[in-house]
Amino acid sequence: MESKKKTLQRTIMKIKLFLLSHIISHIQKNDQLIKTVEYTRGLYRYPKMLGRHCPIYSKNQKTDVLVFAAHPDDDVLGLGTTLLRHSLNGESIKIVFITNGTGRDSESWYIKADQAKKKFDIRYFEAIQALSIINIPKENIFSLGFPDGGTQRYLKHISKDVHTFLQELNPGRVYVHCIEGGHGDHDLTSYVVKSVCHKIGYQNVFEWTEYNPIQPIGTSDVRFLSTDNTSSEEISIDISEEERSLKRKMLKCHQSQDVEQYYMMGEAIRQADTSQMDNELKEYCQISKKRLQPFIKNFKNNNGYSKKITALSFLIGLKGNLFIGLEFLIDTLSI
Ligand SMILES: [Zn+2]
Repeated sequence: MESKKKTLQRTIMKIKLFLLSHIISHIQKNDQLIKTVEYTRGLYRYPKMLGRHCPIYSKNQKTDVLVFAAHPDDDVLGLGTTLLRHSLNGESIKIVFITNGTGRDSESWYIKADQAKKKFDIRYFEAIQALSIINIPKENIFSLGFPDGGTQRYLKHISKDVHTFLQELNPGRVYVHCIEGGHGDHDLTSYVVKSVCHKIGYQNVFEWTEYNPIQPIGTSDVRFLSTDNTSSEEISIDISEEERSLKRKMLKCHQSQDVEQYYMMGEAIRQADTSQMDNELKEYCQISKKRLQPFIKNFKNNNGYSKKITALSFLIGLKGNLFIGLEFLIDTLSI
């Protein structure tokens, strides 16, 4: 009798796991649905985002250099020595991480909130430690808290934040990823920052290359992908032995990511052309067009920082796609 009961319990458990894995894999394919789940679970109700650390945008503080990086560690991998040189020059540097760095396998929407928060705390602390080595104080390090691996779902909100930073800090120079098909969050961070800069006529934007399908992470002699889209001159950073060992020390701080092994990673920057984002995204981004297109369309029609979200746009969205309609509704509630 007892063994029959146990067998039944095991079967029920197996069915539950089977159903759960099917539900998860179904949701995983649908960003609109994930966004609804994230909202419903209270993880991401803009501006309340998991791991947001943005104690206003330090109004009127002198900012020579403003960096937008998708994840804590991209700043060091792609730009560590460049930032060291700015710092030694006495320039004021601020770093903005777009995502909370909690992701792997789209877990942002189903991982327990307290676990995700723990992950964020670790990554944010690692970033603070790494940047302190080149004298960037923790007050100058921000996190917007968008889900790691899910920036495509929040393009309008990211643009609103980026716009605010640019307006409040009026930086001398901006750095951002280039669009190169290495990681979706990198490409979309680049896309949004360049879109906002283009819209407000801010021109002093520089981009860095990190990794892409033909250039693995850690490559010492990094190059931008050859492209017809830009004629900007590529500036290769010649890293000295001393700078290399500092870069290694900074990467070592990001222990949870095991990136110290990439200490030979080279650096190259160039001025960004802020009129070519759409072509670059179409050409390089690895996120499927089908998945990305509704968000890009919505982003272009309705820039977050213009805050024009109306009942009419809800109805228009609803007519086109139920989930886009829901997204409009979520945006209306959460702004
Ligand atoms: Zn990254």
